[in-house]
Amino acid sequence: MARASGHIPFCLPWTDGQEIREVTDAVRSGWLTTGPKVARFEERIRRLVRARHAVAVNSCTAALHLSLAAAGVGRGDEVITSPYTFAATGEAILYLGARPVLADIDPVTLNVNPEAVVAAVTRRSRAIVPVHIAGLPCDMKALIGLARRRRLTVVEDAAHAMGARVEGRPIGSLSDLTCFSFYATKNLTTGEGGMVTTDDREMAARVRRLSLHGLSRDAWKRYTRAGSWRYDVVEVGFKYNMTDLAAGLGLAQAGKFSAIQARRRWLARRYSTLLAGCDAFDLPVEQSGLTHAWHLYILRLRPGVLRVSRDRIIDLLKEQGIGTSVHFLPLHLHSFYRRAFGYRPGDFPHTERESARAISLPLYPGLNRAAQDRVVGTLLDLVRQHRR
Ligand SMILES: *Cc1c(COP(=O)(O)O)cnc(C)c1O
Repeated sequence: MARASGHIPFCLPWTDGQEIREVTDAVRSGWLTTGPKVARFEERIRRLVRARHAVAVNSCTAALHLSLAAAGVGRGDEVITSPYTFAATGEAILYLGARPVLADIDPVTLNVNPEAVVAAVTRRSRAIVPVHIAGLPCDMKALIGLARRRRLTVVEDAAHAMGARVEGRPIGSLSDLTCFSFYATKNLTTGEGGMVTTDDREMAARVRRLSLHGLSRDAWKRYTRAGSWRYDVVEVGFKYNMTDLAAGLGLAQAGKFSAIQARRRWLARRYSTLLAGCDAFDLPVEQSGLTHAWHLYILRLRPGVLRVSRDRIIDLLKEQGIGTSVHFLPLHLHSFYRRAFGYRPGDFPHTERESARAISLPLYPGLNRAAQDRVVGTLLDLVRQHRR
């Protein structure tokens, strides 16, 4: 763990003997690719989020791609999402030849503003991809209501939202399809991995088939006693299946997920308590009826308080051995999106303004109290030194 003078990384996975045992067990079993551990991991996640079906894949990017494909999104369609997100959300839409149509955020929550989504709907709209930024659920009631009225499919980018709830109902069982990420930095990790959850049996079957070359049902069993060597390619699919090695990691992580979440919540609330008195920061909000998954603790610098820029604060924290990050650079300002769609600064002002003043602080179960105190102490010192 980081000592007073040591480096405090931005994030660290929480792994121990359980992960080592599960992965070793997978190696010993001879099942290196998709096998019994993947099936058990799917069942664990399915129950955790209270969905009828869960299909494991090798990333959330793959989960988004296949969910949109299963929803029938294709060339010429429009998919509405937020510019305040990671590259993956836009790419999954582009893979299908569809157009990402962006709708600006609510500057308080950083989540897509349902009114902006309403304004973005056209005759070509096919789906909405809400992104639960940092683990705070989007306004799902408004978005699902709109989707019903306009016959759109909702595919949630829940990369940050494993463990989040709306009125007690877990994210993962609310809309048509939900996509989770088990990337190394995420709340529950398999190194690389993802999952699609849905209550729709046919969507689940389609996602599963697409995840393994479009092969006929249960083709993965072909090397087991129960399987047959015969298979049929039903449609063009992809190579997105999860391995038993990854699922082993996931099973160990799932076993301590409630402890992971409790620790993240405790740390996040402690940040908010310790930073509440400082006028230099706007702190992340919790909202009544919503359970925050606390994937990220995104602080925002209040304009006009400091003489130095956000980027300079990040560098100064780094010099003091404190790792931070920025979530996210606006999707529409990346050079590809400017070139392909003609986006310019000013197109989504809330996204641009909030992104430009955001700093994500270290947040992970292994962050101890002393390390967190040092992050807070260093930040408050910087504010004193650089006040206007
Ligand atoms: C991490 C992340 C993804 C992609 O997840 P992968 O599992 O790495 O593909 C998608 N969307 C958001 C918002 C993310 O943070």
